[in-house]
Amino acid sequence: MYIKDLDDKYVAGTYSRFPLELVSGKGSVLKDVNGKEYIDLGSGIGVTAFGINDDTWTDAVKDQLDKVQHTSNLYYTEPCARLAEALCEKTGMKKVFFGNSGAEANECAIKVARKWAAENKGEEYNVIVTLVNSFHGRTLTTLAATGQEVFHKYFQPLTPGFAYVEAGNVEMLKKVCEEEKVAGILFECIQGEGGVVPLTAEFIQTIADICEEKNIIMMVDEVQTGNGRTGALYSYMNFGLKPDVVSTAKGLGGGLPIGACLMSEKVQNVLGPSDHGSTFGGNPVASAGALSIVNRLDDALMAEVKEKSAYVFAEMEGAKGIESVTGLGLMIGIKTEKPVSEVLSKCMEKGVICLSAKDKVRLLPALNIPMDVLKKAVAVIKEVCAE
Ligand SMILES: *Cc1c(COP(=O)(O)O)cnc(C)c1O
Repeated sequence: MYIKDLDDKYVAGTYSRFPLELVSGKGSVLKDVNGKEYIDLGSGIGVTAFGINDDTWTDAVKDQLDKVQHTSNLYYTEPCARLAEALCEKTGMKKVFFGNSGAEANECAIKVARKWAAENKGEEYNVIVTLVNSFHGRTLTTLAATGQEVFHKYFQPLTPGFAYVEAGNVEMLKKVCEEEKVAGILFECIQGEGGVVPLTAEFIQTIADICEEKNIIMMVDEVQTGNGRTGALYSYMNFGLKPDVVSTAKGLGGGLPIGACLMSEKVQNVLGPSDHGSTFGGNPVASAGALSIVNRLDDALMAEVKEKSAYVFAEMEGAKGIESVTGLGLMIGIKTEKPVSEVLSKCMEKGVICLSAKDKVRLLPALNIPMDVLKKAVAVIKEVCAE
């Protein structure tokens, strides 16, 4: 396996890759270097929202590639402006900052909260509250935001000004917001990397109430849960929230790197010239692809996502070797009796690619995965779990 050896020799060892070299694909089917086909239930960690080599997305990207691939943010380009318009029109948010990843979207969110608080409450109001078991990215500041100590080791000192609260612990949340000078609360409605752990509607409502009461910026990390993943355009919409800031990435780009920080009316003018920036941010090719994604996230698709979700839950819940199923829409975590690594490798042998998150099998299939393909894959997972 020449490519594996080459990669192992020269690429930084930050990933424990599966022994699988992927070369092409179409829709929800990937092909490896030997021509073996796999049903893709991972979407490159929730990125290829409409599958591999999707015609609409590929055409949008190719059309833009034929015009201009990059201009920098010194000039206007149509895809960037139209994508920002589409995001705002669909969410009611007022402004968008574009970066290139989820971590960058969260960095922007944190800067917005801190500057808003500095101007409106005083510079000492700089604390960002996040949740234990959260995941917000790998930069030093988003690592600080990530409420998991395993990620913090070796990289001290991290950016100061973060306080952590256990998900579901209302008393602790109230106490921290009482004692600390809080600028914002940043949370995922469903903790993705943390093991597909949904927050309860009650706890989410408590966060909203405290933000309202104490004039704290509510920031929802929709990097994984966003862009149709949970059967709503953004997961906060399932809970009737009105966040001040929304960060998103992953599925937004459909395969090219893009991240977005959406700002509500309250904070829309916080960032001014030179407060923030990104050379690649809002790149016309990435934006053209993303626009083709956002334009297709309509009610009919959301209904389809919910229907497929209901199918997976009904098949998996109570099945042999399966302990529990969590998640929302097509973001699904499955606790299996067998170790998750064993389930993943056996599924792969049988031609199904799944993800893991902590001790769960995690499924993030393309939003438009055909029902018959999904059924085949679910049967394989059940078979592996029951063995
Ligand atoms: C993946 C993820 C991130 C980080 O995104 P990158 O694009 O890898 O920087 C941040 N927050 C959540 C919730 C994520 O799932």
